[in-house]
Amino acid sequence: MRIDEILKKKRTLSFEVFPPKKDGGEEYGKLIKTIDELKGLNPDFISVTYGASGTNARSAAEVAGHIKNMGLEPLAHITGGPSSPADIDALAQKLQNLGVENILALRGDKPAEYDADYCKHFAHASDLEEYLSKYGFCMGAACYPEGHIESDTLYSDIENLKKKVESGAAFFITQMFFDNAYYYRLLHEAQRMGINVPIIAGIMPLTGIRNLNKIKSMCGSTVPIEFRNMIEVYSKSPAALREVGINYAVYQITDLVAKGAAGVHIYTMNRADYAAEIISRLKNTINEFFKAE
Ligand code: FAD
Repeated sequence: MRIDEILKKKRTLSFEVFPPKKDGGEEYGKLIKTIDELKGLNPDFISVTYGASGTNARSAAEVAGHIKNMGLEPLAHITGGPSSPADIDALAQKLQNLGVENILALRGDKPAEYDADYCKHFAHASDLEEYLSKYGFCMGAACYPEGHIESDTLYSDIENLKKKVESGAAFFITQMFFDNAYYYRLLHEAQRMGINVPIIAGIMPLTGIRNLNKIKSMCGSTVPIEFRNMIEVYSKSPAALREVGINYAVYQITDLVAKGAAGVHIYTMNRADYAAEIISRLKNTINEFFKAE
């Protein structure tokens, strides 16, 4: 089913997984088990990431096909990156043959070393959307509660979100954020600037201290001082840290649901156990507030 149709009926609950870098093998088997566990949590869809340079294209498509065969709705990410139109056609046709109806169109992160030719065919997600429009997929795109790191201001970034909508985006999923106020500001400003498609909130349970200092520079997301303090204080105990990350995600989601977010998308990092614990603590919230009208 198309995600834009689901969003007309209900608030969505969804998960993100990433495919292994190499096709087949033990990692692939582990991921299939993870997806099986996530299925038990009744998501509306599961999204599958895609390497910016198309390295895991085959396994990403296979994982999306597997999700479809399990009776779940896949959302296949596609990055323009260095791909040629022929590469994108081959992938789109493969996804269509697998029965995939939903894609998330992205430019992809530029690698540290790239030349002017990188992204020469699809400079932005909106170019990829325009190219893919002939396939009739339900298309979503990425948005950034604190503005994309390459944008000068949130407002110039929102202007570009408008281009994504004009090129076919029927919904957005946000970059991870740890302070819901940024999400509410994005909703408010996007609506004021004429964007009326649903904006699904992306939540990442932060359960480790690695990369804490790099989060802001990598993806533009601020870790509030209160949360940062908890992470640092409890960092010596992995079990306590796990609890802190899960509690914080549960707190964020409870607040998002109370204030009417269109959907919640959990970046699982392929950890079904984190997702399961979050959902079990939100059981009543989900039963009450994620039902179809
Ligand atoms: P764009 O839309 O091209 O935006 C990038 C910059 O260009 C922004 O500053 C924007 O304001 C500006 N811009 C946008 N459109 C225009 C335009 N038409 N004209 C001028 N300027 C414009 N990366 C992966 O490699 N694989 C994944 O699977 C993946 N999944 C993601 C899922 C989500 C929900 C999110 C939020 C991010 C994901 N990313 C993924 C990361 C993403 O690829 C990076 O954030 C990348 O730097 C930007 O991608 P984009 O599609 O937003 O690019």
